[in-house]
Amino acid sequence: MAKLLLLLAALGSAAAGAAYASAEVSHFTLANGLEVVVVPDHRAPVVTHMIWYKVGAADETPGKSGLAHFLEHLMFKGTEKNPGDAFSRQVAEIGGQENAFTASDYTGFFQRIPRNNLKEVMALEADRITGLVLTDDVVRPELNVVLEEQNMRVANNPAARLSQQMDAALYLNHPYGRPVIGWRQEIERLDRDDALTFYKRARAMRLKCSPMCWAVAKTAAFTASWWSTKGSH
Ligand SMILES: [Zn+2]
Repeated sequence: MAKLLLLLAALGSAAAGAAYASAEVSHFTLANGLEVVVVPDHRAPVVTHMIWYKVGAADETPGKSGLAHFLEHLMFKGTEKNPGDAFSRQVAEIGGQENAFTASDYTGFFQRIPRNNLKEVMALEADRITGLVLTDDVVRPELNVVLEEQNMRVANNPAARLSQQMDAALYLNHPYGRPVIGWRQEIERLDRDDALTFYKRARAMRLKCSPMCWAVAKTAAFTASWWSTKGSH
């Protein structure tokens, strides 16, 4: 069964290989199934908090390609507790950055924030594991965003189109043969019910968490205690 992965990271820059090589990485699993990794990096007072859902395009129902990526987009549409763009607005207000990504086997979300705001961002991320609210008013326009992304990244890019065809031929009847962004004719038919069904499947899967933070002892203990209170999702 695919799992849900949460990742927290304190990364100062991309050129961090040497620092990580000597870092004392903590890796443990909470009683609720959340897998945690803490990688210390003391160069800057920032923390990158990531959650990795071990669910991706390979887990989509045949005929619904693009669903994992579509849901990734919809995860930014708000919850009952934090409606609309409240999550993104809070990250922006504290000077943070955020984004997300989807692959065949995972979907990830991250925020890079001042370390003092870690708890606040954890609360926001935990909230959208279970609290996502989707209406047709937000789902339909976002489908057009995804279709335009398909235009830009694939339909208008000969190399990407060739790559898709090669994967389809190489993997034949295997999920990896489906493009992560989806086949256009299948993306066009995705709707709110598809997204909610996939969301419920994803959140029912066990949580796995990999935090990488600025101070192992402090952050690992904090992360463990905080997420332990959240139960299984
Ligand atoms: Zn996208």
